[in-house]
Formats: sequence, structure tokens, C-alpha cells
Amino acid sequence: MQKIAFLGLGNMGSPMAINLVKNKHDVSGFDLSKDAMSNFEKAGGKTTKTALDACRDAEVVITMLPSGKHVAELLTREFIGSLKPGTLIIESSTIDPATAKAVASLAEEHDCFMIDAPVSGGTAGAQNATLTFIVGGKEDALKKATPYLSCMGKNIFHAGPSGAGQMTKICNNLLLSVLMVGTSEAINLGIANGLDPKVLSEIMQKSSGRNWALEVYNPCPGVMEGTPASREYAGGFAVDLMTKDLGLAMEASLASKTATPLGNMAFNFYRIWGEAGNGKLDFSSIIRFLNHKKEQSK
Ligand code: NAD
Repeated sequence: MQKIAFLGLGNMGSPMAINLVKNKHDVSGFDLSKDAMSNFEKAGGKTTKTALDACRDAEVVITMLPSGKHVAELLTREFIGSLKPGTLIIESSTIDPATAKAVASLAEEHDCFMIDAPVSGGTAGAQNATLTFIVGGKEDALKKATPYLSCMGKNIFHAGPSGAGQMTKICNNLLLSVLMVGTSEAINLGIANGLDPKVLSEIMQKSSGRNWALEVYNPCPGVMEGTPASREYAGGFAVDLMTKDLGLAMEASLASKTATPLGNMAFNFYRIWGEAGNGKLDFSSIIRFLNHKKEQSK
């Protein structure tokens, strides 16, 4: 049993931390949101009053925060300096590679280990411990982290040095956004032309349009049970978080002078949809943005 501090108990962090508890680790959780803390306690977790309290004597610190700004504000030089030497930091939020590298350098200065380990697989993956971890950092840090990552996920990939996990995750989410927009477009077109979205989705799943959104995350209500679409797009992966990830992709695209026209279009769709008051909805709700005629008649 290891003492683990888990900071950030939102849609992803809470079920991930509970999976560590289920594997008999001694987990202390902390979140700035009282609701997140009480949901974690209801699920069987233990909480502390501050992030530092959770980290006291911890061998491992895991962070699952909204963005790079939150990570940089929490994992400061002073905060990392207060950890035990040899502490392993697993930073699992999706953030910019530059912040991941800066935190890894701070950790190294204080004789701690740090990996960037963003995840793929959504809230269902977090609940079922089937996440994919995309790791950037040194081999020895990844080796130390593997027993903990295995409690929360099924696939662990070493993408490269510090920051490479984040860059890989950013590329993945750019592709995911394009797939979700494309899937939504095709389903809307089918419905508008008299097709049953369930039948259409089943056929496309076995045809050349097959993709992850169709297989496990259908954006159309009534097609697939257990998806955010089947519960009014509550929970899941927020539009605001997808907009943040696409913003990171656009920054990387500008910095490396790489053409990403479809990602750029998806970024604008998500940004406009979020700014129209839909930022907390799951990102599959983009099907409603594209179905603008139906939205306006509401
Ligand atoms: P969330 O907003 O549900 O949870 C983030 C939590 O962090 C919130 O409860 C917030 O109060 C807390 N927080 C912020 N600052 C804090 C601090 N200083 N100390 C402690 N807690 C703090 O977000 P989420 O959906 O759980 O996503 C977390 C990260 O995982 C994001 O970077 C996101 O991009 C990434 N991600 C999410 C999904 C998904 O399906 N939701 C999938 C893959 C990756």
C-alpha cells in the first residue's frame, strides 16, 4: 500500500482516485470545489483540507486539473519543494507541453520524479479503469509510475521525453474533434433525409466511416445507452475542455508552421458553441450546434 495524494477530483479525477482506493492504496484527495470533494467522499474516498495536507508523507502525487494554468499555479517551486525527495508526480491533465516540461524541471531540481501522463478514454474509461495513458518523461520515472497507472488504465504508452505525452494527446484530440464533427454531420444529414439514426450508425460502424465516436460515444440521443447524448450531454468531456485542447493544437500549429485547417474549423465550432452558453455540456453536443435550424426553432 502506498500513500497517494490525488489533486483534482472532477469528472475524471474522482473515478481514477477511487480505482486506486479499490487497489488498496491509501489515497488522500483534494479539490477546490466542495461538490467535487463531497462526491468523492460519497464514492468512498478520503479528503483533506488543503492540497499540501493531502501530500504530507505521500510517495506519489497525481494531478487531474482543468488546464496548464491550474497546474502551474498549484505545482509551484515552493509546493514541489515541500514534497519528500523521491516523490513521484504523475501529471495527468491535458496541458501545454511547455508547462509540463517546466514542472518536470522543477521536480528534478528537488530530487523528485515527474511524468506527463494525459489520458484518453473519457469518463467511462476513468470509471472502468480502461484509460490509455500517454506518457512523456524519463524511462525510470515511467517504470516507477507503471503500477499506479495500471490501477487506472489498460494501455500505457511512452511517447518520448518530457512534454511528448502532452503533444501526442493534443494531436489525438484534434483528430477526435474532427471525427466528432464529421460523425455529427453525417447523422444530421441522415435524419434530415428520413433515415433512422440508430440504423444509420450501425451501418456506418461496419463501413468505411467507422470511428471511435460511432463505436462508443454516439452524439445522437437515443442511439446508444450510457453516453452523454443519452443524458442531455451532462458529465463527460466538456465543450470548454475540448476548446482548450484545440486551442493548444492551434498554438502548436502556429509555432511549428503546420497546416491544420480542419482542426481550426473544429476549434471555431467548439469555441462559438461554448461561448453561446454550452461550455459545460459534453463535447458530443456539437451535433446540436450543427443542427442550427432545429436549435433556432426551440
Ligand atoms: P473537471 O473540470 O471535471 O475537473 C477538474 C477539477 O479540478 C475540478 O473539480 C476543479 O475544481 C479542480 N481543481 C482546479 N484547480 C484545482 C486546484 N488548484 N487544486 C485542486 N483541485 C483543483 O475536468 P475533468 O473532465 O475531470 O478533466 C480533467 C483533465 O482531464 C482536463 O485537463 C481534461 O482536458 C482532461 N481529460 C478529460 C477527459 C474527459 O472525458 N472529461 C478525457 C481526457 C482528458
